[in-house]
Amino acid sequence: MINFLNLQKINLQHQEEIEAQLLQTFRSGWYILGQEVKTFEEDLSNYIGSKHAIGVANGLDALRLILRAYMEMNIIQEGDEIIVPANTYIASILAITENNLIPILVEPDPLTFNIDSTKIEEKITSKTKAILLVHLYGQISFDEKIQELATKYQLKLIEDNAQAVGSQWRGIKSGNLGDAAGFSFYPGKNLGAIGDGGAVTTNDDLLATTIRAIANYGSEKKYINSYLGINSRLDEIQAAVLKVKLKYLDAENEIRKAIAKRYCTEIINSKIILPIYPQEELTHNWHLFVIQTSDRNQLQDYLKQSGIETLIHYPIPPHLQKCYSDWNNLSFPITEKIHQEVVSLPMSPVLTEEEVNKIIETINLY
Ligand SMILES: *Cc1c(COP(=O)(O)O)cnc(C)c1O
Repeated sequence: MINFLNLQKINLQHQEEIEAQLLQTFRSGWYILGQEVKTFEEDLSNYIGSKHAIGVANGLDALRLILRAYMEMNIIQEGDEIIVPANTYIASILAITENNLIPILVEPDPLTFNIDSTKIEEKITSKTKAILLVHLYGQISFDEKIQELATKYQLKLIEDNAQAVGSQWRGIKSGNLGDAAGFSFYPGKNLGAIGDGGAVTTNDDLLATTIRAIANYGSEKKYINSYLGINSRLDEIQAAVLKVKLKYLDAENEIRKAIAKRYCTEIINSKIILPIYPQEELTHNWHLFVIQTSDRNQLQDYLKQSGIETLIHYPIPPHLQKCYSDWNNLSFPITEKIHQEVVSLPMSPVLTEEEVNKIIETINLY
C-alpha cells in the first residue's frame, strides 16, 4: 500500500537528531517556555524574515490570537467583518467566529483554489477590518491587487499559513506578506511536530507583546493580568523537534516540488483535471497535490484497489456544515463544486521514485 502520508518515515529520516533533542529536553527539567521555544522562535523568525515569531499551542489558536489581540488593541471591534475564502479548512473560519466577528465568505479562483482577488472589493463595507488569506494546499494567495485593497481600505492582512510554510512570493516568504500570520505544526503539515504546535509571525511589536500576554493567561508580568487571557503555549518538546525539522524544510519542499512536477507533466488522463504547476514555482510548497474528477468515489476506489491511498481536502465546505446552520442556504457554487470533486494524491518528501511511477501509471490506466 502506498500511504497518503507516512509520518513515521518522514520523522525517522532525522531520528538521531530528534531523539537527542528529546532526551536533552527531558533531562533539562524545564518543560514550558524555556530555551527550546526561545531558540525555535528565533530560528523561525530568521527563516520567515519577520521581526517576531511567537510559539503557541496550535494553528487555530495562532489565528484566534491574532484577531483577539487586534480587538484588545481596539483595531477590530466585536461584530466587525473579516473577509475570508469560502473554500478553506474550517479552522480559518472558526478563528473569526470564536472572536464574535463576522466572516464574509468569498468564492475562490477555480484554477488556484484560493480566494478570487477580483471578488473581494464588492464585499468590503464600513465594518470590514481585515482580510484573512489562506494559502490553500500550500500555494500563495497574495497579489498586488490584494495589497492595494488592504492599503486603500486600511484593512489588516492576516495570513493563514498553516499549509504554506516555505512558499514565497517574489522573494518574500509566506508569513511575512501581510501584518500577521498563523502557522500550524500539526504533524501532517510540511513543518510538522510530534503533537500539536503553532506560531504567529509579525513585524508589529505591539501585536507581538499583546499576543504573548493573551496566550499566557493575559499576563505580561507574572501574576499581573492585563487581559482575560488563555493558555496557549508551544511545548519545549515540540520546539526541540521543530528546531531540527526546520533545517530540512527547504530540502523537503524541493522534493515535493519535483514530485508535483512529475505528476503535472506525466499524468495524462482526460477524466482528471490537474492543478496548475505555477510558473513562479517558489509560490507553491505542494503541501497537498489535489486533482479534480467528476466521479471521485470511483477514482478513489480504483486507486485503493491498486494499493494507493488518497484523501479528500475537504469533503464539506464550511458554509454547509451543521455548526454554521445559519449559512446552509447560502450558495457558493465554485466552492461547492471543488468540495465535490477534489481528491488528494500521495505527496510527501519520502515518496520513492517507484511509488511515484506506480501512482502515475495507475492513474493513466484509469
Ligand atoms: C491545519 C490548519 C489549521 C489549523 O491548525 P491546527 O494546528 O490543527 O489547529 C488552520 N488552517 C488551515 C488552512 C489548516 O490547514
